[in-house]
Amino acid sequence: MKSDHVVFDRGQPIEHRIGRLVTLWTGDGRGPDHLVTGRAFHAVYCWHLRHGTDHGIAWAEYVTAAYDAIGGDEGWNVMLRARDVCESCGDTYRLENIGLCTGCMEYTCYSCRGHGSCAGEIV
Ligand SMILES: [Zn+2]
Ligand SMILES: [Zn+2]
Repeated sequence: MKSDHVVFDRGQPIEHRIGRLVTLWTGDGRGPDHLVTGRAFHAVYCWHLRHGTDHGIAWAEYVTAAYDAIGGDEGWNVMLRARDVCESCGDTYRLENIGLCTGCMEYTCYSCRGHGSCAGEIV
C-alpha cells in the first residue's frame, strides 16, 4: 500500500518499477506493506500476466501475494466490474473493458488506444 507510488513513478519503465517493488518486498520480510493496491495493482498484475515468465520466481510470488491481498479472485472480479474513465475521451467503462497505459498510468479505452507520447504499453 505504501508502495503504490513506486508504480506511478513515470520516469522509469514499468519493468524497473516492479523490480523495485519486489526488492522492497523481499527486503522487508515479504510483509504486506509493499504490496500494491488499486490502479497500481492493476498495472502490475496485467503487465505480469504478459511478461512475468521472463522474470524470477520472486516476481511471481510478489504478484501472487498482492493478488491474495486484494481479495484473490473475488477481489479482482470486483475490481474488473468497477468503472473508470478513459482519460483521452472521457467515456466511462468497466475496468475489464479498458486499458491502462503503463507509461503515464492513465486509463485509455480500446477506441482511443495507445498514447503516442508514452513509452509504456497498454495492459
Ligand atoms: Zn477513450
Ligand atoms: Zn500514456
